[in-house]
Amino acid sequence: MKTPVGPEVETPQWHSAEIDSVLSTLKSDRKTGLGADEAQERLAQYGPNRLPEPKARGPLVRFFSQFHSLLIYVLLAAAGVTAVLGHWIDTGVILVVVWVNAVIGFIQEGKAEAALAAIKDMLAPKASVLRDGRRITLPGENVVPGDIVLLEPGDRVAADLRLIETRGGLRVQEAVLTGESVPVDKSLDPVPAAAALGDRGSMAFSGTMVASGQGRGVVVATGANTELGRISHLIGEVRRVQTPLTRQMAVFARWLTAFILAVSAVILAAGLIFGGYGFTELFMAVVGLSVAAIPEGLPAILTVTLAIGVQGMASGNAIVRRLPAIEALGSVSVICSDKTGTLTRNEMMVASVATAERLFNVSGAGYAPRGGFQLNGDVAIATDYPLLAKLSRAALLCSEAELERRGEDWTVVGDPMEGALVTLACKAGLDADAERRSHSQIDAIPFDAQHRFMATLHHDPEGAAAIYVKGAPERLLDMCQSQATEAGEAAPLDQDYWRAQADAIAARGHRVLAIAVKAGERDQTGLDFADVDGDLMLVGLVGLIDPPREEAVNAVAQCRDAGIRVKMITGDHAGTAAAIARELDLENTSRVLQGVDVDGLDDEALRRQVQEIDVFARMSPEHKLRLVKALQAEGEVVAMTGDGVNDAPALKCADIGVAMGLTGSEAAKEAAEIVLADDNFATIAAAVKAGRTVYDNLKKAIIFLLPVNGGESLSLVVALLLGLTLPITPLQILWVNMVSSVVLAMTLAFEPSEPNVMRRPPRPPGEPILSRFVLWRVGFVSVLFSAGIFGKFALAQAQGASIEEARTIAVNTLVVMEIFYLFSVRYLHGPSMTLRGVVGTRPVLIAVAAVAGLQFLFTYAPFMETFFGTRPLSLSQGLQIVAIGLLVLIILELEKRLVRAVFLPRSPDPSRA
Ligand code: ATP
Repeated sequence: MKTPVGPEVETPQWHSAEIDSVLSTLKSDRKTGLGADEAQERLAQYGPNRLPEPKARGPLVRFFSQFHSLLIYVLLAAAGVTAVLGHWIDTGVILVVVWVNAVIGFIQEGKAEAALAAIKDMLAPKASVLRDGRRITLPGENVVPGDIVLLEPGDRVAADLRLIETRGGLRVQEAVLTGESVPVDKSLDPVPAAAALGDRGSMAFSGTMVASGQGRGVVVATGANTELGRISHLIGEVRRVQTPLTRQMAVFARWLTAFILAVSAVILAAGLIFGGYGFTELFMAVVGLSVAAIPEGLPAILTVTLAIGVQGMASGNAIVRRLPAIEALGSVSVICSDKTGTLTRNEMMVASVATAERLFNVSGAGYAPRGGFQLNGDVAIATDYPLLAKLSRAALLCSEAELERRGEDWTVVGDPMEGALVTLACKAGLDADAERRSHSQIDAIPFDAQHRFMATLHHDPEGAAAIYVKGAPERLLDMCQSQATEAGEAAPLDQDYWRAQADAIAARGHRVLAIAVKAGERDQTGLDFADVDGDLMLVGLVGLIDPPREEAVNAVAQCRDAGIRVKMITGDHAGTAAAIARELDLENTSRVLQGVDVDGLDDEALRRQVQEIDVFARMSPEHKLRLVKALQAEGEVVAMTGDGVNDAPALKCADIGVAMGLTGSEAAKEAAEIVLADDNFATIAAAVKAGRTVYDNLKKAIIFLLPVNGGESLSLVVALLLGLTLPITPLQILWVNMVSSVVLAMTLAFEPSEPNVMRRPPRPPGEPILSRFVLWRVGFVSVLFSAGIFGKFALAQAQGASIEEARTIAVNTLVVMEIFYLFSVRYLHGPSMTLRGVVGTRPVLIAVAAVAGLQFLFTYAPFMETFFGTRPLSLSQGLQIVAIGLLVLIILELEKRLVRAVFLPRSPDPSRA
């Protein structure tokens, strides 16, 4: 076992101290924790519970890193050569353009970094602590020494804790500290002072993960003083904006650059050998060719597009943890979603109570403890039915949630289902706080999705012990021997009756929970599985409503249009799942596959079933993993939701793991690609839409920039090969590429979704970005641009314009064609000449205005004339140029119609677009 390295700092031996002495040293109370004021003071004294941030790159370093690219080196070398040759203007222009380009890059990169930093903050972990005797959840940063922290499976421990309570076999995975990946058992007993970190069983360390069981601990160290804080090399994970696509493009850009430089060298050598051009002219032409052909701005624009996409998704509550997920989202073909809280609202209310002889309906709204009971349509007074009180008390005591009142609003702190049980108890006339005080909880077996029940042990004021159990009815029926009569006596269990009742409640779409009790031993202080297996007395069932989220119904329909199958994977009862699935309008709700059914199928048989069935009930995390694998084996790209610690393997295995931000454990979040800040299914559908949009925009940036480079280089190469006058000078190309094109291409990062984005099928996962369609487009538009440049240049000369004037016209034609092409590219999947297409977005309008302004400056400002050899143009020339742009747009629209049929056969019916 590895022990961490780090400076030897003298720390108190908390692990070897008795709990009481630790608590008194830290002036904390095990039942109430710290007070709010005290916590505030300690926060000021000890500082936030945060590890020191890795040093960020300063703005200066970031600025100068903009110069670190092959093209810039080529340009700087060119500036050097022109300076040596005494061409000072050329030198000046090259340097200014390089400088302007660096400023634009610097600003873009700053945007991308800020977007990612904001997301990191959204993922900041939370901790549950006791303050003033109440359990509250707060940002991990605010935890202070002396706080009592509550631990549950899947939690990341927020600070170093001396454990003061453990339940259900607390085990913690400490790999981050000790390298040991098998979870270690924790207990309360002090360990020898010399024990190594991995052997300090009485402690839970910051950054480690609770694998199972529950516990409480008092914070002994926070922030940099924790054991994790001492291992400085672990800190600081630098996120890079990279995905398979950007990597693919970066490699492409590198190869292209090498190729162009080689071609340029050959042209330079051939030109020098065979003559025709002077050295300076030739050298500048070759530099121009390099600038024209290398898509230098592309990687930066892709990065910004991704970052803007991530930022947009985060503001829509989908937090992307791993960037490649954005691309994978566009290929998702199946979404497997939890039911409770994701497809449903997780706002529960007990609507019915079934006892051995009666079925009560319960009225009320939300968690407000107002409402009552009806029996066969008549009002029923709760106190007339002692069994109702017995059931309600058991349900209350076997729950940990609390109700909170704010004005007329009642909310739950804790599990909403348990909150509904507390409300039920109030409606049955019990005083929840008083009951909990008088029947103090001594021990508990916490709920976990595997066992589907939870049990608590209580002592009443006379010292009598009672065990209360609640859980899934099928599970509890196996654990019960008898059932309670109206008088509270034990009678033989009528399994059939209860199963029929449970099915009837579930068929209404209600969740069913069974409640059972058992008398404990008088001096019993611990509870384990043997205490609750086999001889419980069933008191009754409760049915809870949890309506589907309205937005989820719409999102399911949207997914269906987008060719994505939605499957419900729930731990709940088959009947409840099927009823809710029908309300949500899932595709196939006639068959439900249950966990036990899955156990009976081998992988081959499961593969055959998963395609057809959409509702999976009583599923455990292991089943989820098998489902993901079966779907993937069928060629599906799967998004799977999860919240518990045991869901981590399924989340990792899925193409897109989606964790719940509100109710999910840290373990699930860390295994996931995407975290839903609102736990809402509709957010997943929105994320898919955003993912598709970002991918479209990346593609648009590529399809926009490459032909601009292509058109320019084609013009240069043709001119050089045929020994013609260059229609655009190298410096002018520098201007167009590094200023106008970059500004225009940037707007594509902000493009909203195309109207049909959720009406086309998912993108095949292996589809190359440089598809046949993209290659065709790049080639076609390159030719079009080069024809435009040459055509206008030749025409102007034929009309008697000077070379300078003709070149100014050619440059302006190129930029105007770019602007019109931008409007065309904005809609890859539909016509651009629509009202929406013409009006554009704000960034598009700003960029077009900026580029137009720059072109006016370029054309008419006297100093530009000095630098770029431009000449002012007449209004009629200007109008002709705009007409060429319009012509290009029209040609491209026609091309879009023709080519779509050839290259995009999967495109949807245009009438729907
Ligand atoms: P989903 O997987 O869609 O979120 P779920 O919340 O019903 O559905 P689980 O949390 O695994 O899934 O719960 C499974 C079953 O366990 C529930 O149907 C219920 O019968 C029982 N159950 C859930 N929460 C508790 C609890 N706090 N105490 C006792 N039993 C519970």
